[in-house]
Amino acid sequence: MTLGRRDFLRQAGAACCLSLLPVSVAAGLSATPVARNLLRPPGAVVEEIFPAKCIRCGRCVEVCPYRSIRMLDIRHGLHAGTPLIEVTKIPCYLCMKCVDVCPTGCLRRIRQSETRMGLAIVDRFQCATWIGTTLCRTCYDKCPFADRAIRLDQLRPIVNEALCTGCGICTHTCPVTGADGSKAINILPLQAVEKAVG
Ligand code: SF4
Ligand code: SF4
Ligand code: SF4
Repeated sequence: MTLGRRDFLRQAGAACCLSLLPVSVAAGLSATPVARNLLRPPGAVVEEIFPAKCIRCGRCVEVCPYRSIRMLDIRHGLHAGTPLIEVTKIPCYLCMKCVDVCPTGCLRRIRQSETRMGLAIVDRFQCATWIGTTLCRTCYDKCPFADRAIRLDQLRPIVNEALCTGCGICTHTCPVTGADGSKAINILPLQAVEKAVG
């Protein structure tokens, strides 16, 4: 559900109160919200500067026709009011409307195919096709870039790191859900991927 402007202003005011909290508490509340399956919208600048560059105007939230983007609440400290997409709930359908309305360049005006919100990672110990319990190809069938971002190799899904947009449609539609809410294909934020391989 999107946050109304009045609710947002109320939350923004409450966020200001965070400055009254002890530094250690405020720092704990301000840890980045970006994590597995929790992503910034398309075209986002690097996470290190995102909270400073985003003016919390809510335009990206309002324009998204799928309600993919929500504004973070005051529990997220310095990230309160910034946009986040939880792909297990609603993925990004890559309409690119949000990048067109962002007034700060926080979401850069990139093309659909240039989007790199993250990278889809197949969990080969959870994927029904990889472990051989059933033949599922939902991620491949639903991917808007099938045979480019994801392909089948002997019916098993393989992601192309260079072309996956991180939209999360595959994650959202994957029928396998683990006890922790993860899927058999999950989106790692790109910076997490870069750290893992760097
Ligand atoms: S690209 Fe479109 S679907 Fe994706 S978050 Fe932006 S407005 Fe929503
Ligand atoms: S449109 Fe841009 S500046 Fe406004 S809330 Fe979204 S990301 Fe932040
Ligand atoms: S593999 Fe998944 S995250 Fe990557 S482009 Fe296809 S649907 Fe989107």
